[in-house]
Amino acid sequence: MDVYGLLGNPVGHSLSPPMHETAYDELGLDARYVTFEPVPDDFGTAVEGARALGIEGLNVTIPFKEDALDRVDPDDLAARIGAVNTIDFPDDPDDPPKGYNTDVAGVRRAFAHHDVTLADRRAVVVGAGGAGRAAAFALADAGAAVHVANRTVERAEALVDDLPNATADPPEATAGGLDDLPSRVGDADVLVNATSVGMEEDRSPVPADALHADLAVLDAVYRPLDTRLLRDARERGGTTVDGAWMLLYQGVEAFERWTGRDAPVEAMNAALRGRL
Ligand code: NAP
Repeated sequence: MDVYGLLGNPVGHSLSPPMHETAYDELGLDARYVTFEPVPDDFGTAVEGARALGIEGLNVTIPFKEDALDRVDPDDLAARIGAVNTIDFPDDPDDPPKGYNTDVAGVRRAFAHHDVTLADRRAVVVGAGGAGRAAAFALADAGAAVHVANRTVERAEALVDDLPNATADPPEATAGGLDDLPSRVGDADVLVNATSVGMEEDRSPVPADALHADLAVLDAVYRPLDTRLLRDARERGGTTVDGAWMLLYQGVEAFERWTGRDAPVEAMNAALRGRL
C-alpha cells in the first residue's frame, strides 16, 4: 500500500483525505492519505521520518510551507514563490525530496476550467499572504498584468518585487493598498480575493459597485463557498469561480505529480463539494 499525507498544524478540518482517497478508489490504487500534526519544532524530523517510513509524498500546509522550502530541492516556481506545499520522495534514497507549489496550478487550472483566459489580461489580486503569492505568480506567469492590493502595502510591494515583469517599463506588475481598489477593479478583467475577508462574516473585500459584467472573479475563500463577493459579482453579470475549484486543482496537481496518472477530477470534485 502507498501512503501519502498532509503535514500541518492544525489539520483536523482538512478536506484533502477524502479528495485524494476518492481518487485512489476511482483508479483502483492501493493507497491511503493520512494527516499528521507535528509541533513546529518537529517539522524537519517529521519530513525525515516520513521518508524513512516509505511515505510516497506529502502535502504541506500552514504553518510549514516556508520551512518546507529549506528541506527539499524546490522546482523553479516553488523557489521563486518561497513556499512548498507538495513534497515528492524519489525512489533513490540519495536523491533529495522534490518540492513543488501546486497552489499556483490550483489558481491557473481553476480559471482554465471556467474558460477564463489570463494572457494579456489585467488582473487584480487582493491579499499578499500565501494565497495571494500563489495567485499573483499564477496570473503573472500566464502573462497577465498584475496589480496586488493589500491592507499592508509593504507586503504587496515585496510580493510584486518577486514577480516576473516587475522591472519592465512601464511595470507590468504593480502594488498598492486598498484605497484605490475600486478603480483598479473597474479597469480589470480578472480579480482574485486572496484575503480571509468573507470567511467569518458576510463581507466582501471589494465594494460591489466596482464589479462589472466583464470581470472573472475567483474567491480563494471556500468556507463558505458562496461568498458575498461572488454573489455581488454574479449579480453584475460577471463570471464567478469559487474557492473549492482552487482547492480541487491544487490537489489534482499534487496527485498527478505523485502518481504520474491523470487525476479523476470529477470524482475528486464531488468528494470535495459533498463535504463543504
Ligand atoms: P495569510 O497568509 O494569513 O494572508 C491573509 C491575507 O488576508 C493578507 O493579505 C492579509 O492582509 C489579508 N487580510 C486579513 N484580514 C483582512 C482584513 N480584515 N481586511 C483586509 N485584508 C485582510 O492567509 P492565506 O493562507 O493567504 O489565506 C487567505 C485566504 O485564502 C483564506 O481564506 C484561506 O482559507 C484561503 N485559501 C484558499 C485556498 C484554496 O485552495 N482555495 C488555498 C490557500 C488559502 P495583511 O497582509 O495586511 O495582514
